[in-house]
Amino acid sequence: MKIKVLGCHGGVAPGYRTSCYMIENRFLIDAGSIASALSPKLQSEVEDIFITHPHIDHIKDICFLVENTFYPERAIINLRSTKEILESIHSHILNDIIWPDFSKIYVDQNKSKALIKFCPIEKTLSHQGLKITYFRVNHPGNAIGYLLDSGTSQVIFSGDTGPTDEMWKIADDCKNLKAIFTEISFPNSFDWLARVSGHYTIEQLLNDLKKLKNKNVPIFIAHFKPRFFEELMDEFHRLAPQRLHLLHQDDEFDF
Ligand SMILES: [Zn+2]
Ligand SMILES: [Zn+2]
Repeated sequence: MKIKVLGCHGGVAPGYRTSCYMIENRFLIDAGSIASALSPKLQSEVEDIFITHPHIDHIKDICFLVENTFYPERAIINLRSTKEILESIHSHILNDIIWPDFSKIYVDQNKSKALIKFCPIEKTLSHQGLKITYFRVNHPGNAIGYLLDSGTSQVIFSGDTGPTDEMWKIADDCKNLKAIFTEISFPNSFDWLARVSGHYTIEQLLNDLKKLKNKNVPIFIAHFKPRFFEELMDEFHRLAPQRLHLLHQDDEFDF
């Protein structure tokens, strides 16, 4: 399973792109930086976006992706997530006020092809040869994470989350788990802020990792808030055990 990190930060500043992962060079998990990371030509190859939650750092580039790829010959962009997450995006962002409702704009005169389609997902589905299952996490906006399973490799994306149980149980049930992509957003001194906003500090994450029986699977850390970057790096280098790895923009994996 091929994974390319187009963006992995929890905020925007020069050089910091927000959450966006390209899977198998075919579809995205979150779209925080697809338009900032790729040329319009490569953007036009994206047909499906699985969304973890409707926060702006995870969805903002949908707005620009659609504009950059507005060609009659391109495929419809399918936004895939739970019904409530899609409804939030539709009614609060793509609502003809903040940004156009692209699901009502067509690229052809017959009105057969809208620019985007909202596609609610079942708990588990097959997509591009992968089995994709979503699970609830501890974060506002009805947030979910995804388990991707190729048959020989499994990878978990938590999206944004604070301390949680379900994800670690799912991880322990996996037979071929190759990686968990999760987050640390705030330094330990902002423990209170992490708790009210549903994010991890490194201390909270290390505590949660005690729930995981599989002690070998590598854990990749994303979503540092740019404002706290230096403090977070310092804590990471002092406190992170070997199995924790910092994720970088443009990292590529093949599991
Ligand atoms: Zn986020
Ligand atoms: Zn969020």
